[in-house]
Amino acid sequence: MPASTPVIELKDIQKTYRTSANVETQALKGVSMSVHRGEFVAIMGSSGSGKSSLMSIIGLLDRHFEGTYELDGQDITELSDNDLAEVRSQSIGFIFQQFNLLKRTTVLENVLLPTTYKSSSDDEHRALQAIKQVGLEKYINNHTNQLSGGQMQRVAIARALIMNPSILLADEPTGNLDHATAHEIMELFKAINRQGTTIVLITHEDDIAEYAGRKLSLYDGQFKKETTR
Ligand code: ADP
Ligand code: MG
Repeated sequence: MPASTPVIELKDIQKTYRTSANVETQALKGVSMSVHRGEFVAIMGSSGSGKSSLMSIIGLLDRHFEGTYELDGQDITELSDNDLAEVRSQSIGFIFQQFNLLKRTTVLENVLLPTTYKSSSDDEHRALQAIKQVGLEKYINNHTNQLSGGQMQRVAIARALIMNPSILLADEPTGNLDHATAHEIMELFKAINRQGTTIVLITHEDDIAEYAGRKLSLYDGQFKKETTR
């Protein structure tokens, strides 16, 4: 595979939701994008513009779309559901606005969650490394409901990092955080990106998108313009 092969290559993606026999919503109307390894890309857009729909497709959570998607040079439409799940768990880490942590469960247990599907002897070692990377080593045995919002998002980031994914996908990760905490979390993403992880981040806030190297704006299911810095 040539070094220039994009890690994510979407061509003319269209996504239509059918909620009933005669009601259709066209959430994505021909979206194309390429993301190269090590990039940090922000996808912006107002509510309903199609950000989460695009994220689900990029994250292999939704394979019901038109257009082509190559991940690491591989056409994902050719994969079985099982292979797709395997690629997803090995290659992609997810971070959401709502953190999606298990309550009454420790930080360590939450971070170990992705390994339960396929465990290996160094899981605990990797969990400790990920927890250190997000700065929560003092809280390893705390229950997640004893943590602040920013700390909870750090747990979610550590959980996304434990499988050493090549891509991190974050859907409005700072949407539930106060301004100062949001910027701390963005500094953490920036540090993770500097170590080589490709990041695609969804936000509707300009100051959050500023952390990315490139911004793409969705408007009514289509990219508006590309801004490169
Ligand atoms: P965003 O994340 O930018 O707010 P979404 O991708 O969630 O946008 O939604 C884009 C459009 O698709 C909206 O009109 C939304 O109502 C619609 N939509 C999203 N998910 C569904 C779904 N599961 N069923 C039907 N319509 C949906
Ligand atoms: Mg959304």
